[in-house]
Amino acid sequence: MPQSDEFTLFDLRVEVVQGDRPMVCKHAAGDYFEVRGEELMLPAGQTFPIYPLAAILPLLPAKQRHTVPTDWMTTDMEVACPDPLCGARFRITRTGTTTFRHSEVTLVPLEGA
Ligand SMILES: [Zn+2]
Repeated sequence: MPQSDEFTLFDLRVEVVQGDRPMVCKHAAGDYFEVRGEELMLPAGQTFPIYPLAAILPLLPAKQRHTVPTDWMTTDMEVACPDPLCGARFRITRTGTTTFRHSEVTLVPLEGA
């Protein structure tokens, strides 16, 4: 039986894909990181440049949440590297879901709880 303060977010995978030009930054096709809740996980030994990461971060909380089929946040999966000379794209994929409890992620009380 579900707990009354549960909520579910999508788990994400952000993968570097080759665009139509060479990549300038220190990322390679296939590099990736995953996001579950507020945690960002890189494979052991892999790095990820901070400038594209800064551009991707604002999209992740929206991509983690359920959106309607007509929302562009539902349909659009790739974003460009912020370096205008870099051909990298970043594919954001919803890979699964994780259920969290409100009481375990914040101290703000639920209304009516
Ligand atoms: Zn780049």
